[in-house]
Amino acid sequence: MVRMQFSYGLSLFCMDNIPGAWRRTASGAGLLSPQGEVAPTIFAEMSAFAARTGAINLGQGFPDEDGPFEVLEAAREAIAHGANQYPPGRGIPDLLAAISEHQQRFYGLTVDPDREVIVTAGATEALTATLLALLDSPDDEVVVFEPYYDSYAAAVALAGAKLRTVRLRAPDFQPDLDELAAAVSDRTRIILVNNPHNPTGTVFAQEVLSEVVRLADRHDATIVTDEVYEHLSFHQPHTPIATLPGAAARTLTISSAGKTFSVTGWKIGWVHGPAELITAVLTVKQYLTYANGSAFQPAIAVGLRLPDSYFADAAAAVLRKHELLGSALRSAGFEVHAPQGGYFTVADATALGGSDAAEFCRELPERAGVVAIPITAFVTPEHRANYAGLVRFAACKRVDVLEEAARRLSALS
Ligand SMILES: *Cc1c(COP(=O)(O)O)cnc(C)c1O
Repeated sequence: MVRMQFSYGLSLFCMDNIPGAWRRTASGAGLLSPQGEVAPTIFAEMSAFAARTGAINLGQGFPDEDGPFEVLEAAREAIAHGANQYPPGRGIPDLLAAISEHQQRFYGLTVDPDREVIVTAGATEALTATLLALLDSPDDEVVVFEPYYDSYAAAVALAGAKLRTVRLRAPDFQPDLDELAAAVSDRTRIILVNNPHNPTGTVFAQEVLSEVVRLADRHDATIVTDEVYEHLSFHQPHTPIATLPGAAARTLTISSAGKTFSVTGWKIGWVHGPAELITAVLTVKQYLTYANGSAFQPAIAVGLRLPDSYFADAAAAVLRKHELLGSALRSAGFEVHAPQGGYFTVADATALGGSDAAEFCRELPERAGVVAIPITAFVTPEHRANYAGLVRFAACKRVDVLEEAARRLSALS
């Protein structure tokens, strides 16, 4: 049964071997059929597969528990009180003010709520609108760390520009600063930095962030950050690049409520930075979604104003889940690269015969009743060999679900 159902998932991993049939989307994670139809991303496909087979889904990174009651209640109240029509394109004033207060409170950043911030349909829209707004020539380059979040390559392709990647290497997944410097040139329009980082779980060292700022300044590039895990940095306070000397004037800071408040389906994100850059992003954003989430926006304003203890407790809870998952993976025979932030633990399956992690992940539901994602889903096709044995497991699941996953994984050893 499992095997039959897997013929559905098979195309994910074997499409390279089907000449003239499926083509990969720009990200490498989705598929285009010969007729050009878009197939689901690997995450959607693996989630559907887990749902059908009863495998535990440690693939896609969404929590299986609700976020804080006050936030959910605020959305219910907003609906009851008529917040059901288009909100302003920039976002409702109360949320813009709450984002500005949040940036001041946690990072000492001053953000003008009227001119320097807009609300978006998740961090994803903020990223896409930003790339479409700032890139205008096929020679423009965007430098990203690899492996990277799957929407980056797709959005760069939509903008008609080029992606340049800088490798992150196990075990600590910090970039080599010389490689970073070599990747940035006068063609670089954007350096895109996701910190804390998905999928590796790394938190970039201070000297990496400083080097990004130095290079952006030297080559007149814009820094775009993806800080959706800003409140899930486990061992050190999060440092937005915009707080580094000289950075704010060329940085667009992107974040989102989804991960911080366990409301990934609400798709409330934001981007802030210099007013003229924000105006450029808004110009594109108004023709993507125009606006979204009228009832969720006031609720996220409530969330951003929760006491410090909410944010600290949420990070501590996710860290405990990583520890549980990490020790289960270690006892099952994986080499675990313990994360410093975010939702994911990366583990090397080579010792378990998983030197081809894509193959390993295809078999994992049958061998252990668990779904996970090979890191190769997050790298450009020509670099896949560098990440061949690595598997990403989502730790943002209920403790009882992780305990059951641990029992099942122990069958591997
Ligand atoms: C989840 C995630 C996003 C998407 O955020 P949304 O607010 O759901 O659009 C963006 N970047 C990274 C690194 C993520 O993990």
